[in-house]
Order: sequence, then C-alpha cells, then structure tokens
Amino acid sequence: MTRTADVVIIGAGIVGSSVAYHLTEAGCGNVLVIERETRQGLGSTGKSMGGVRAQFATEVNIRMSLYSIPFFAAFEEATGHPSGYKSHGYLFVATSRRHLDYLEANYARQVALGLRGVERLRPEDILRMVPQLRSDDIVGGSFCPTDGFVDPHSVMVGFMARAVERGATLWKGTEVTGIEVDSRGVAGVATTNGTVATRAVVNAAGPWAAQVAHLAGVDLPVVPLRRMLVPTEPFPGLPERLPMVIDMTTGFHFRPEGVGLLLAWNDPEETPGFKTHFDPEFVEKILTRAADRVPCFADLAVDPRRGWAGLYEVSPDHHAILGPAPGVPGLFFANGFSGHGVMHSPATGRILSEWILDGQPRLLDASGLTASRFAERRLLEETAVL
Ligand SMILES: Cc1cc2nc3c(=O)[nH]c(=O)nc-3n(C[C@H](O)[C@H](O)[C@H](O)COP(=O)(O)OP(=O)(O)OC[C@H]3O[C@@H](n4cnc5c(N)ncnc54)[C@H](O)[C@@H]3O)c2cc1C
Repeated sequence: MTRTADVVIIGAGIVGSSVAYHLTEAGCGNVLVIERETRQGLGSTGKSMGGVRAQFATEVNIRMSLYSIPFFAAFEEATGHPSGYKSHGYLFVATSRRHLDYLEANYARQVALGLRGVERLRPEDILRMVPQLRSDDIVGGSFCPTDGFVDPHSVMVGFMARAVERGATLWKGTEVTGIEVDSRGVAGVATTNGTVATRAVVNAAGPWAAQVAHLAGVDLPVVPLRRMLVPTEPFPGLPERLPMVIDMTTGFHFRPEGVGLLLAWNDPEETPGFKTHFDPEFVEKILTRAADRVPCFADLAVDPRRGWAGLYEVSPDHHAILGPAPGVPGLFFANGFSGHGVMHSPATGRILSEWILDGQPRLLDASGLTASRFAERRLLEETAVL
C-alpha cells in the first residue's frame, strides 16, 4: 500500500533534519525524511568544520546568522541535545586597503542589521588576541565574539531526534529514485522502499541536489566542490580562547580542535566533481600558508592519514537556493549553501517550514534566494566565502 505523508524531505543531513524539526515544532507531524545511507552524517554535514559566523557581506546572510547563532546557543533547551556551540569568535585579518574597505562596509551593514559586539581592530588589537601571528603586513581586521563553532553531528542528531519525538519518521537506507508530478504539481516520490504519496517535497540532498531536482525535471545550478581539512597533533602555547582566524591574503584559516588545530584552505585550483578522497599533497600546500602567517606553525605536526575531504554544494552566486522550485508546485529547495549549510541550518529549517505551511517565510525576506533569480538574473554577491 502506498504510504502518505504531508511533507517528504529528501536527505537527513543537518538541513533536512532542521526542516523536519521546524515543521514538527509548527505542528506538522506527518513528515517523512528519506535518507539513502544507513546512518545520518555521511554527506557534507559529517565533513564540516562547524564554523558559525554573522560576519557576512549581504543582508540575507547576516539575517540568517542572526537567527541561527542564538538558536545554537539555546539549542540544548530546545532539543535536549548539545550543539557544542563555542563562542570563540571569528577574527578576519586584513593585509591590504581593499580588505579593510571590504570589512568596513560589512561592519556598517552588520551593525545596521543589529549584530552586537562586532568590532574593527587595529593591528595591535589583533596581536594582543593572537600574538603568534606574523604582523609586518597586517593593516587591521574585524572580530565578532558571538561567531564561533558548533558540533554539526550533534546538531543534526538533535534536530532529528526532536522531530521524531514530535511525530516525524526517518527512513534510513532508502533512496529516492523518482519524483512524481501531475497537473497539480508534486504527487509523490518513488523510493527503493516503495512509493509515498505527498503534495510537498523538500530537496535537502546537499551536494547531490542537482540530481534530485532532475528527478522532477528541474535544472538546479548546484555543483559539488571538494574541500579538504587537516587536523594537527597537539600544539600547546596558543591563546585559550583562540578564535577562528582567517588570513585574508590567502584564505588560510584555522581554529582550535581539542588540544590541536583544524587547518583549512580552499585551493583555487580545485575543480568541480564528486571527489571525496583526501590528497596527501594538500598537506604541504596548506602548511606553507600556515607557516607564512603563523611562523611557529613551521613546527606543526600533521599525520596526513587524519586529513579528510568533503563536498561544498556551490551555487553560482555562493548563496543558498531556498523555496519553491520554478514550474513544479509542491517542490521546495533547501540547497546550494556554498559552505554555509551548517551555520544557516536553523534559519533554513524555519524559512522552509513557513514557506510550506504558510505560503511564505515570516522570519525574514528570503525572496532573493529563490531559484528563479538565475533565470531573472538577480544574482547576489557574497565575497566572504570560506
Ligand atoms: C570540508 C568542509 C568544511 C565545511 N565547513 C563548514 C563550516 O565551517 N560552516 C558551515 O556552515 N558549513 C560548512 N561546510 C558546509 C556544510 O557542511 C554543508 O553546507 C552542510 O553540511 C549541508 O548540509 P545538507 O544537509 O544540505 O547536506 P548533506 O549533509 O550532504 O546531506 C544530504 C543528504 O542527502 C542524502 N541524499 C542525497 N541524495 C539522496 C537520494 N536520492 N535519496 C535519499 N537521500 C539522498 C545524502 O546521503 C546525504 O546524507 C563545510 C563543508 C565541507 C565539505
């Protein structure tokens, strides 16, 4: 017999889990989440660096963070699970006038939108915060103390556990193989576990979003792009509340991870594709950038076998693609986060649930994020992409 659901969510990563949570909190209990892997977290969510920040350039990204970061801070009260939120801040380190102008414009926008605590820093302020930085070319920076990191796996599990308590169902080990469309729009999904009748489907398939959209005959411009992270062995002597530090010259960034560090750098030579193997040659590339900004990092010990790779789900303007799919009533996108899907998962869940249940989001004006912006040439510009 065909099962019926009010809403089917394809993908049980942090985004699908947040959508399920927000739908059930809003009273919609007949939600079915379908995940093809036998456990959650095997997509991008399990590979993430867990960084969360409100220091963005565009209004919509700042607003999404203004909802999401306090949400992480109060996550345990809401779900009974820890988010692992650590408010160590993000420190952007500028080495050119162009960087400073950019940070200045962002600062003005962030403050105007209500972000509190964000500050512009002089080189001496930066060195007080992280004395180990090479400072001869530093001209200033910015810092926001409520930025920081979360535990993406714990957040994902917390969202889903709470949604299930409120009536949602999670099917694991089940792949969605088709999306059925009739004259009214979405009519159901075909899966390896039978068909499900529904009038609302959310594509939360992360880097596989374009393939899932194709199941309904829709083109979705989301491409997978490999990103690699390198954890280090213990490295004592750094400040206790070390923030996420971003060298704007190269894009190299790092944050504390246990008693060691987690190093990241987006290789500009990386090309799109479903590549998830870690390239050991990346270690030398990243360590060169690391020692260039933090001379004592020349002594970092790294075991290349502990490095890992995952996939960003990149949209043409590096902004999420949210809301109704053009031409297919009942199909909704929660895709294209371009490296920000963990930090924006709370706002995304809320926005999607309002779009589905109320016809439009009330949390914030997300109309600029719909997929129709590509055909209508309304692209957004966010240059602070990490
Ligand atoms: C190295 C790295 C570092 C990152 N750092 C950060 C960071 O610091 N901060 C931040 O906010 N973000 C970061 N990100 C990005 C973030 O991880 C992603 O944006 C986020 O995890 C996306 O979540 P998701 O739920 O959309 O996708 P996923 O976690 O990939 O989940 C999608 C799920 O859909 C399932 N699926 C796909 N197709 C089907 C199908 N046909 N049927 C059923 N199931 C299907 C997959 O199995 C998968 O489990 C990083 C990403 C990487 C790779």
